[in-house]
Amino acid sequence: MNTEMEIKKAANILANAKRSVASCGAGISAESGIATFRDPGGVWEKLNPAEVGTSDGLLNTLTRDPGKLLPFFIELLEAFEKAEPNPAHLALGELERMGILQTVITQNIDNLHIEAGNTDVIEVHGNGFRIRCLSCRNTERMQRKQLIRDTLKKVKQMQDFSLDAVASLLPPCRLCLSPTRPDVVMFGEAVKDIPQAFDAARRCDVLLAIGTSGTVYPAAHLPFHAKESGAKVIVVNPNENAFSAVSDVYIPMKAGEAMGEIISTIRKLMH
Ligand code: NAD
Ligand code: ZN
Repeated sequence: MNTEMEIKKAANILANAKRSVASCGAGISAESGIATFRDPGGVWEKLNPAEVGTSDGLLNTLTRDPGKLLPFFIELLEAFEKAEPNPAHLALGELERMGILQTVITQNIDNLHIEAGNTDVIEVHGNGFRIRCLSCRNTERMQRKQLIRDTLKKVKQMQDFSLDAVASLLPPCRLCLSPTRPDVVMFGEAVKDIPQAFDAARRCDVLLAIGTSGTVYPAAHLPFHAKESGAKVIVVNPNENAFSAVSDVYIPMKAGEAMGEIISTIRKLMH
């Protein structure tokens, strides 16, 4: 397979698309310095999903061993603080401004698609920088870097990392002053806006699957759903993934590099 040809093919398909949709996974943010979970060096090599991935597991770990998660938590916050949209996020923002891309469906919680300028972003796993009231469920979007800086300051002053201390990290609800939590989906919790995501996949003429392994459901169904509805599927992922049966174009490159080349090819085609 010739990668250069695949890039040209992807650019041609996108330049002629009327309604394209991107479905993105953790891989699109890897070049922004946020590690994926499953890759070598990823989070699941350091932590057990059962201890941190579910609300019950997390509560248990914090109660039993308050100090255990502290270094990991600081490392995670620092990575999220430094992160900026990379050329792949920026390319999706530009594709929307060009009138080519309608919707971004993302499994990421890092807010980078919104910061790259996409306006229709379906965040199926929520957003780490939106807080949700534990009592009245009101949600509020926070400024990413400010929230991280405030949280890091509190974390570094903490004597212990107990449940009570952790509960006081986020600002209280603006409406009822109850404690809040990040509005993200943990294992075992319901994913968000799935009907809208499937609707977008069904109605698109091109689906771009970027940096997603195809192992996290139901998002993993999206490329299959788009294909069944007649769309072309373009896959960008340097590693093996679950979409080979449905990909019309497969670009085995990092998201930032591939999308940077695709967007400059489209620009040339449009002139
Ligand atoms: P995943 O199953 O989608 O796997 C990540 C995929 O990214 C892999 O297929 C890998 O080959 C690919 N990849 C790695 N580097 C890449 C690059 N530079 N360019 C393109 N592709 C690349 O996701 P996961 O890591 O197992 O995470 C599971 C869930 O956890 C996600 O669905 C998400 O909700 C959450 N998560 C979010 C973030 C974030 O917000 N940035 C980061 C990690 C995990
Ligand atoms: Zn409230």
